[in-house]
Amino acid sequence: MLSYNDHVALAVSGGKDSLTLLNILVKLERKFPQSKITAVCVDEGIEGYREEALNLAAKECERLNVRRLVVSYRELFGTTTDEIVKRDLEKAPCSYCGVLRRKAINKAAALIGATKIATGHNLDDEVQTVLLNMLHGDPLRIVRSGPVLSDVRGKFLTRIKPLCDIPEREIVLYAYLNGLQFQTVACPHSNEALRNDLRTFLNQMELKHPGTKFTLLRTSQRLRELVIKTPRPLELNACEKCGDPTPHKYCEACLMLAIA
Ligand code: SF4
Ligand code: ZN
Repeated sequence: MLSYNDHVALAVSGGKDSLTLLNILVKLERKFPQSKITAVCVDEGIEGYREEALNLAAKECERLNVRRLVVSYRELFGTTTDEIVKRDLEKAPCSYCGVLRRKAINKAAALIGATKIATGHNLDDEVQTVLLNMLHGDPLRIVRSGPVLSDVRGKFLTRIKPLCDIPEREIVLYAYLNGLQFQTVACPHSNEALRNDLRTFLNQMELKHPGTKFTLLRTSQRLRELVIKTPRPLELNACEKCGDPTPHKYCEACLMLAIA
């Protein structure tokens, strides 16, 4: 996932996963003097929720002496998640917020000249997403995610998920053993009923049939390898509004912002 001279833009939300990954990457960075880490914190504009996480992230970056860049939806897109959810939306708030976060992190990474983007997704997140995509009838999305996502056309930075095969409970254990302070309250807009059901289901399966989560992760990796061998990559155009690469006329974020 990493090269000795990478400049990693690490998305730090202030939750247990990103703070754990930050601590581990900092240890690695010290062994490779040509590598660099910048923590990227995104302020979605969610009152009463995001401030605490941003503060926790800031404190940990200070303690570890890591550079930090904070970008906000307000300054990048002229709106906030709080404002978007007040509109009459077709999809759940996270669909909008997630798309904008990806775009915000891409912009921040480009700004600092990063060579890779890292996120703190863990094994549980990954396998829940695999099943979610199946239940949403979008199996090809499984191909477009995964532990290392590099764009063969070179238009997007490679995104990596170094904790993708670490169970969530081991990350919690690492965070507690290392005395990390992380945010525990949930976002007021999160409506993750289906994901929560899948979390419960997968935890029950894991208890009864140990190894279920790893098997699912490997199955998705095999599917990915099979599919990548066959289709040709999509042709990309420049979004007519912002210039970002997109298979359509406008990128997903610009379409959503127009709706919002
Ligand atoms: Fe955004 Fe949803 Fe995450 Fe809240 S839970 S910050 S709305 S993606
Ligand atoms: Zn666009």
